[in-house]
Amino acid sequence: MTRRLRAGHDPETSQGFVNPPIVRGSTVLFPDTSTMRRRAQTYTYGLRGTPTIAALEEAIDEMEGSYGTVLVPSGLAAVSLPLLAFLGSGDHCLVVDSVYGPTRLFCDTMLKRMGVETEYFDPSIGAGLTALMRPNTRVVFLEAPGSNTFEMMDVAEAAGIARAGGAVSMLDNTWATPLHFRPLEHGVDLSIHALTKYPGGHSDLLMGSVSATKETFDRLRDAQMQFGINVSAEDAYLVFRGMKTMDLRINAHEASALKLARWLEAREDVARVLHPALPSFPGHDLWKRQFSGSTGLFSIVLQGGGRVEAAAFLDALTLFGLGYSWGGFESLALEVDLRDRRVATAPVEGPVIRLQVGLEDVDDLQADLEAGFAAVRDLA
Ligand SMILES: *Cc1c(COP(=O)(O)O)cnc(C)c1O
Repeated sequence: MTRRLRAGHDPETSQGFVNPPIVRGSTVLFPDTSTMRRRAQTYTYGLRGTPTIAALEEAIDEMEGSYGTVLVPSGLAAVSLPLLAFLGSGDHCLVVDSVYGPTRLFCDTMLKRMGVETEYFDPSIGAGLTALMRPNTRVVFLEAPGSNTFEMMDVAEAAGIARAGGAVSMLDNTWATPLHFRPLEHGVDLSIHALTKYPGGHSDLLMGSVSATKETFDRLRDAQMQFGINVSAEDAYLVFRGMKTMDLRINAHEASALKLARWLEAREDVARVLHPALPSFPGHDLWKRQFSGSTGLFSIVLQGGGRVEAAAFLDALTLFGLGYSWGGFESLALEVDLRDRRVATAPVEGPVIRLQVGLEDVDDLQADLEAGFAAVRDLA
């Protein structure tokens, strides 16, 4: 943590101020034609970065152990940019079936129109992934744990299979953050984050990052420049600021979520708790071997019932807000739609409710969930 708190900004470069300046700008002046021709200065044009953007990129590199990071305007753009950078017409792309829903939609629409074939694989496939590799497989896209249902996989094994087959591996690391998992240390080429979630941490911005190995970085940066996207200095500053307290916040989210998960696990009106840090979770051992901790997002499967019961539960909650996204200070809950799963099996005992456990007092959150269960009982 100590090194990370210093990463990205040297106060000596800004007259002692401990934080980087918010630098807005398009044009950057060159002192003479020779310098301009050689582009021989750190900053050349606003799109290519500003000191504020560079500070955040460096801070993320420090956490991820990456060679270089690019910033994009949302977590979803941090998924689509590397896919477009490394795939072209006639290519084959392997994607884990428990992937974030909008990632699947991107593959099934935009990539399909471009002539890229996407094939989904079961997160528990293990070494069986080798058999799915084709000569034209260029990308293996991973997410661990899986979105909403938290299936675990052996990341190093999948990344190794991708590399052996000449494909680039990418992993959406939003859930764990680099605090608990560093994909590049497991052989993954590109680590993807929705900075919107824990790094931002306050539900007041959207941003994504892609952190790359030395071998993959230039192609990624080129794609970012070809699209002509970057982020605003104000938003980059807010994420840089959020990352200073991310460890503390995540530790608090983690502790409250675990406390609630254990309490929920003991209830008869809960069929299952989908939380990788619970020993009862099928992927627990895989998780424990690879991850150093958990965060504040997990799901529960209600015992019986359907959409009516899910609505009664959610509408009775007053502290858990009903809304998308997560990783902010406030608790959220929603019903998860798993109808898009192809090969990975979705829970069948009852509706799946995803909980984002915020920074409120955990006893208050427990009482709120208690009210949700009471509302379901009242239906009967
Ligand atoms: C939220 C999320 C994203 C997308 O982030 P946005 O900033 O909302 O676009 C991508 N991947 C995962 C796993 C997410 O949870």
